[in-house]
Amino acid sequence: MTQFTLHDAPLRPAEERASVLSDLGFGAQFSDRMAVADWTAADGWHDRRIVAYGPFELDPAAAVFHYAQEAFEGLKAYAHADGSIWRFRADVNAERFRRSCRRLGLPELSAADFLASVDELVAAERDWVPTGAEQSLYLRPFMFARSPILAVKPSTSVTYAVIASPSGAYFGGSGVAPVDIWFTRDYSRAAPGGTGFAKCGGNYAASMVAQQEAEANGCSQVGFVDAVEHRFVEELGGMNLFAVTSDGTVVTPELTDTILEGVTRSAVLQLARDAGLSVEERRLELTELVDGIDSGLFTEVFACGTAAIITPVGTLKDADGAHVVGDGRPGATTLALRQRLTDIQYGLAEDTHGWMHRIV
Ligand SMILES: *Cc1c(COP(=O)(O)O)cnc(C)c1O
Repeated sequence: MTQFTLHDAPLRPAEERASVLSDLGFGAQFSDRMAVADWTAADGWHDRRIVAYGPFELDPAAAVFHYAQEAFEGLKAYAHADGSIWRFRADVNAERFRRSCRRLGLPELSAADFLASVDELVAAERDWVPTGAEQSLYLRPFMFARSPILAVKPSTSVTYAVIASPSGAYFGGSGVAPVDIWFTRDYSRAAPGGTGFAKCGGNYAASMVAQQEAEANGCSQVGFVDAVEHRFVEELGGMNLFAVTSDGTVVTPELTDTILEGVTRSAVLQLARDAGLSVEERRLELTELVDGIDSGLFTEVFACGTAAIITPVGTLKDADGAHVVGDGRPGATTLALRQRLTDIQYGLAEDTHGWMHRIV
């Protein structure tokens, strides 16, 4: 039984689709259709539909433009060798989306609606799921406030939508090429009591200038420490961070309300335990991390998230200097965890945790 009504939409011909799929970056191409639903305080959720991908018409006073009342998610649909298409732990995304929306004063979308929007869009757009190595159909569910009123209060009218983007590697290249990270001292991403645990555009808006600072310092990503003491490692602008010790202990900052709980982060913790590694979720001081990198105590550092999967960190930099991790090349534990995760996602290894769900 479908929940989102499939409307007619102009579809690009197969040759055009093939040409788009032959040259994929990340998040730059979109499929022909999108899922949409509307909510008003008076009527609740209604008009669930799958329609042609295209612009929204919004009042210039719409609350999202002024007060950034918005939340989003990110997940992928994976093609397996037999032609079937699967999603990975989307129920966890559905729950996180509810938490994010609650924090942003947005209405909650049920997990059933969230999963139906994803499954029914992917089923309609299955020809857009790329089949190359480490390619996927990246899905971006999002919700935004559209009440046309400048008074500051939660919107009584919102739209939820899912767009689908056939994608390759987030950082280009092979996907395992190390990235350099800049730890900023000037900017904070999230403060206690704020929105750090919610996946919302506002957190990203606050990270852009820090990202520019990172790029000005020759790094492709920015790392943040806590906003109170400016001592403890939190995460990157859009990825969680891990370090591995020379004796194979996997360390990641413990969750607080200033850290986004990644679906990839918790999968990595589980896969590390499965591999017999010790796992520590704890406070990690930036000085402990850089001193440990310099002394050889921390031999590997990696970032993880749905888009970037697991990406090794080659060099960690801050205002005091650069710290090359190990020999600057991807470490063995990083690569093994990455292989295990992608093998499960692409149907090449047994899914012992029930993380995968077949869509079509
Ligand atoms: C989305 C996101 C992550 C990674 O989460 P996944 O569920 O693994 O994709 C990490 N940090 C931030 C700030 C994020 O927005």
